[in-house]
Amino acid sequence: RAKAEGRNTFRFFEASMGVEAKSRRLIEQELRQALMRNELKMVYQPQMQIDTGEVTGFEALMRWHNARLGEIPPTSFIPIAEESGIILQLGEWALFVACQEAASWEKPLSVAVNVSAIQLYSHDFPQKVHSVLLRTGLAPYRLELEITETSLIKDTNRALAALRHLKSLGVRIAMDDFGTGYSSLSNVRAFPFDMIKIDRSFIKSVDKNAQGAAIVKAVLGLGRGLGLPVLAEGIETPDELEFLAGESCAAGQGFYLGQPGPIENFKHLISSTASFAGGMQSVDVIPE
Ligand code: C2E
Ligand code: MG
Ligand code: MG
Ligand code: MG
Repeated sequence: RAKAEGRNTFRFFEASMGVEAKSRRLIEQELRQALMRNELKMVYQPQMQIDTGEVTGFEALMRWHNARLGEIPPTSFIPIAEESGIILQLGEWALFVACQEAASWEKPLSVAVNVSAIQLYSHDFPQKVHSVLLRTGLAPYRLELEITETSLIKDTNRALAALRHLKSLGVRIAMDDFGTGYSSLSNVRAFPFDMIKIDRSFIKSVDKNAQGAAIVKAVLGLGRGLGLPVLAEGIETPDELEFLAGESCAAGQGFYLGQPGPIENFKHLISSTASFAGGMQSVDVIPE
């Protein structure tokens, strides 16, 4: 009887479960096999110095193609990977692949890798990063770890300890999606960031939208005041780029400058760029 009830309960649960919950479960099941089945790959998007147009490095982004589900965007599978803990394996794989790739480049350009909060808070994350650097031979200053503000909130002391440990390895830390999290201003001072990436929602139509422009100018001023370079994400039009150039924004990334793609698409860019000694350096604070 208990068995029958259990079954009924289960069936009731199934019936009441939305399509969304079912597809989440399916995605999670398939995601567990994705690494083993070789379904994941990394694509790269160029990051450029805005005044010279020179490529300074690439952001590595994960892609997943599954036989049953097709192409699933990271915005769909990363949150599921985080909830299920699979992100620890996926993230370590991404880090290794991106560092190995960068170590093979003709020029010492930087490689940016996104780090999930789950990874940041795992007890051995800095050791894992150290191990990947040793195994791939990538110089630490060429690796930039992208952390979102939201990641820092859960346990600021632990986040700070992890970031300090990472900094001691010589890697650089970027604050990703800046402006979309909480208490941006105190975070930017309390944590040892090397650069700020302005979220693309603020860059969209920045040339036509007075509010967006005010926010972008304020972030650029903040960066100058703190001596941190600022990169604008999601540049899609020449007018947006021109606006940012006019405001002396150091660096940019976006579909207008280059779509994410397999690294083969960018090998010519890597060879033709002037030998660049590793990512963006902090700017001097310019007195007003
Ligand atoms: P993100 O770290 O902010 O990465 C930038 C996203 O903006 C990428 O989306 C990129 O393709 C997209 N993008 C770049 N330029 C433009 C543009 O001009 N216009 C528009 N509309 N979009 C642009 P993607 O690759 O779909 O990744 C989405 C998010 O998924 C990433 O946001 C990041 O949070 C996460 N993600 C991707 N790969 C990884 C990974 O390896 N590990 C972790 N933990 N998260 C990842
Ligand atoms: Mg990013
Ligand atoms: Mg990110
Ligand atoms: Mg971002």
